[in-house]
Amino acid sequence: MYNQLGISNNTIELIKKSEEELKNKFKEIDELCEYNSLKVLSAFNKYEVSENHFSSTTGYGYNDIGRETIEHIFSYVLGAEDSLVRNQFISGTHALTVALFALLRPNDTMLSITGKPYDTLDEVIGITENNSSLKSYEINYEQIDLINDEFDYEKIKETLKSKKIKLIEIQRSKGYSTRKSISIEKIKNVIEVIRSVDKDVIIMIDNCYCEFVSKESPLEVGADIIVGSLIKNLGGGIAPNGAYISGRRDLIELCSERLTVPGEGKEVGPSLGVNKSLLQGLFMAPNAVASSLKTAILTSKVLEDLGYKVEPKWNDQRVDIVQNIEFNDKDKLISYCQGIQMASPIDSFVVPIPWDMPGYQDQVIMAAGTFTQGSSIELSCDGPIRPPYIAYQQGGLTYEYGKLGVMKAVDRLIRTSL
Ligand SMILES: *Cc1c(COP(=O)(O)O)cnc(C)c1O
Repeated sequence: MYNQLGISNNTIELIKKSEEELKNKFKEIDELCEYNSLKVLSAFNKYEVSENHFSSTTGYGYNDIGRETIEHIFSYVLGAEDSLVRNQFISGTHALTVALFALLRPNDTMLSITGKPYDTLDEVIGITENNSSLKSYEINYEQIDLINDEFDYEKIKETLKSKKIKLIEIQRSKGYSTRKSISIEKIKNVIEVIRSVDKDVIIMIDNCYCEFVSKESPLEVGADIIVGSLIKNLGGGIAPNGAYISGRRDLIELCSERLTVPGEGKEVGPSLGVNKSLLQGLFMAPNAVASSLKTAILTSKVLEDLGYKVEPKWNDQRVDIVQNIEFNDKDKLISYCQGIQMASPIDSFVVPIPWDMPGYQDQVIMAAGTFTQGSSIELSCDGPIRPPYIAYQQGGLTYEYGKLGVMKAVDRLIRTSL
């Protein structure tokens, strides 16, 4: 059967051997999946989900009980006072943008303590000039870089003592960088340090790709507000679009009034038929995340055995669903991504090539043969065309499809390396 996908016997043997060695690691993931499933099921039971929550509103979207129940359930699962879970968010970046514009005012300062944020925020913040940026509203931006993947605690304390900071942003997942992603334990430590100096600063977490990878959410270790995308972890591959913001009730209200209208806030926003998909997506999310983690662990093991530098390594503690593979070679990066595309359910016949994507500074290659455009809880692989030519692979709705994708990509990589 493998031969139907054009995968050579050598590759099949290689991957089966690695898989054998991962059995115990996969058991840990199964346990995590069960824990998160229990959390989700408890929330569904507590809020008595029934078929009438699948109904929908149009127009202004008043009295949308499905939407309101979804927001209760997300709050329960994430340990939040309140949540905004909306299909009106067009992406994770949009939700981050809404949160930043909702919480910051002219002359306020925002401080990133995980170095430069995700590429698509450059124009939002004003790191790259844009007439609609936070900077254009006289909102200041400062950043403190990580030192060897650790927070610069001294500089964080110094900065908080020397001036008034309104909001601290912490990005957990690495984006297109080579640093390690930030664990819940590290978030907990840095929040303790921040709070020892400043009780009021708003601590906002970019939680993209991290949901259900650890048992706790950042809100449970002291963060004020977290943001993520529904075409990543919590959408479970079923949500057709959307994003969430969860956290302190007063902050969620500000975000809702920024997303919709001052004075209307959370009360409006038609769900347009999406409620069932968001509920079902969250229901599937623990398993989709577990499948993605297994796919990532397998990838890490196989590519390391083939001599590539990988991050994280197969046995490392995982913080997000992203797997880096450092190819140090443009053609290898491209052929690996093309292999992922060839084993995708959608557009398998299309050959991805690098292009100038809006919001990114370098050319990017993206393999995304996904049901939902740009979905990265589905198996996808991308990377900016710059040294050291790193592939960022994530997703896998089921482990079996994830494994087949990796087999095809490795097979293509080996063939082009000959
Ligand atoms: C994916 C991601 C975002 C948001 O990206 P969108 O494509 O706009 O949804 C933000 N931050 C990080 C770290 C991400 O991984």
